[in-house]
Amino acid sequence: MLNKKTIKDKYFWLISFLTLLITFLHYSNLMSEWELHIFYRKLYYLPIILSSFRYRLKGGLISSIIISILYAPHISIFGSGLSITLLNQYLEMVLFLTIGYITGKLVETDYEKQKKLENKIIEITKLQNYTKNIVDSINSGVLSLDTNFNITSINKEGEKIFGVKEVLGSNILKIFDEKYIDDIFNQAKIQRTQFANINSKINIEGIEKYLVLTVTPLFNILNKLQGLVVIIQDKSKEKNLEAQAIRSDRLVAVGELATGIAHEIRNPMGIIKTISQTLQEENDNEDLLEGLEIIIKEIDRANRVIDGILNFAKPIGNEMKEVSLNALLEEVVNITNKYVKKQNVIIELYLEDEINIIADKEKLMQVFINLIFNASQAMAMDGKIIITTVTRDSGVNISFKDTGIGIKKEDIKKLFNPFFTTKEKGIGLGLSVSDRIIQDHNGYMIIDSIEGEGTQVDIYLPLGKKEGVTN
Ligand code: ADP
Repeated sequence: MLNKKTIKDKYFWLISFLTLLITFLHYSNLMSEWELHIFYRKLYYLPIILSSFRYRLKGGLISSIIISILYAPHISIFGSGLSITLLNQYLEMVLFLTIGYITGKLVETDYEKQKKLENKIIEITKLQNYTKNIVDSINSGVLSLDTNFNITSINKEGEKIFGVKEVLGSNILKIFDEKYIDDIFNQAKIQRTQFANINSKINIEGIEKYLVLTVTPLFNILNKLQGLVVIIQDKSKEKNLEAQAIRSDRLVAVGELATGIAHEIRNPMGIIKTISQTLQEENDNEDLLEGLEIIIKEIDRANRVIDGILNFAKPIGNEMKEVSLNALLEEVVNITNKYVKKQNVIIELYLEDEINIIADKEKLMQVFINLIFNASQAMAMDGKIIITTVTRDSGVNISFKDTGIGIKKEDIKKLFNPFFTTKEKGIGLGLSVSDRIIQDHNGYMIIDSIEGEGTQVDIYLPLGKKEGVTN
């Protein structure tokens, strides 16, 4: 009957001690005044109530029964005939049992209610977790807003899209710059209708994201508008791939055409150069020699352009190996430092812990050097190039940020077009070739610039092994 838990409980010993003490005092003072007996009798309620509170109905009943048994011999000592004293003693025993039962029952009912409440809370928490898990596992951002468009809940994908955790509680209208998005949220609230497939753009830490939104009014059980639910799909990857595919097609076409033309031009130019050199050797007319010098110089420059074109059309070699990105970037900075220092340009390198990628080292080096040269050429004198690596998703983001002249808004779209250049002696192949190399590494390149402030080139490269690549 007594389990280990009860034996270990100090209340059990307190109740037992009280009961025995009262009984001892009661029986050891048999000859004392009747008033004192009544006092001891009343004291029995203390262990009964304590026991009911501690052990509920079972405790109340058991303690009142034991106390009645302990009290019973008292009746035979003090009871004779049918006196009011005897009846009082019987009544006291009935009261012991009644109080034990009632307090025990009350505590028991309260305990059951509490237990039910606890179970309900557990059930609700489980349901909440279950719903949260489902919402979190959805591949789209799911947000709920109150009627003032403050974000009241957001799932994991939503946090990923906005790139920050503190978005909860903030107003969604502040995240979207475009005015028509504000109108759509307002219309969904006023008209109480759904608006689906809304295209929008946001800029998170310099990276542009293409989003598709569905805005649905949210009603409570009384059919009163509670806010809005916004489902967001991040279409940036698809959008980038689409743009890359267009660029790729254009590059291939231009590459083929350029290679053909380059070969055709190279031969006659070779002939012109040889004849010019022969004429140089055979003549001493200064004007003529000066003219021939210019011809040879220009032919050399044209040859460099042709080399660039041929190089551009060449596909990436199969030199894919595991490369330490940090070591590669440090090497690139070492090589370019001498060049940029002449312009008082500083290169700052902020690298994450060791990152290994599968890459064609030489080709990547070509890209990085090209970006550093472009950045330093955008700064007449003094300036900074900040190179940062950050791992995200299953890849790494390498950014080259400069404090140069920046790029005109209308020119940003043209940067990857072959032969687009704003430089007097530029060829305009650096970025298109770099873009192609990055694409061959299964990555992508994004350029963002503010005219007069500077330019940031972001390169994303996957960390995983490229399919079909040999080490
Ligand atoms: P090139 O350097 O031969 O002009 P690129 O393809 O490397 O060819 O660059 C194309 C054009 O992009 C440049 O002429 C320049 O106008 C612009 N550009 C590239 N990088 C930067 C930069 N970091 N800052 C400003 N403009 C840049």
